Amino acid sequence: MSDDAPVTDQDRDRVEVYAMTVGEVWREARVSCPHRDLLRAWREGGIKGGAAEYLDFHVSQAQCPYCQANLDDFDRDDAAATSQDLEGLRDRLLSSTMSILREKQKDD
Ligand SMILES: [Zn+2]
Repeated sequence: MSDDAPVTDQDRDRVEVYAMTVGEVWREARVSCPHRDLLRAWREGGIKGGAAEYLDFHVSQAQCPYCQANLDDFDRDDAAATSQDLEGLRDRLLSSTMSILREKQKDD
């Protein structure tokens, strides 16, 4: 038998209970929810250092449902923006193709 791992099941239970309690307290009190803009910046990797750790803890560890809902919103926004971009690109390609064709007809 090895004594290399001094962490007992009891310790693990304590850690889990603590983590759950912190998460519950955060969720219940909605402690320090970051502003949506901050959350968006963090999601896009624009936040570094302690603030990033704080946000990571808030969203990933405490699993704040409010911020999670905001993040889901951002995902939807991004999906909508991407499809709008594609539509715009298609329209631009179409109109430039049309004008090239028109120019060609004039030359002939
Ligand atoms: Zn939050």
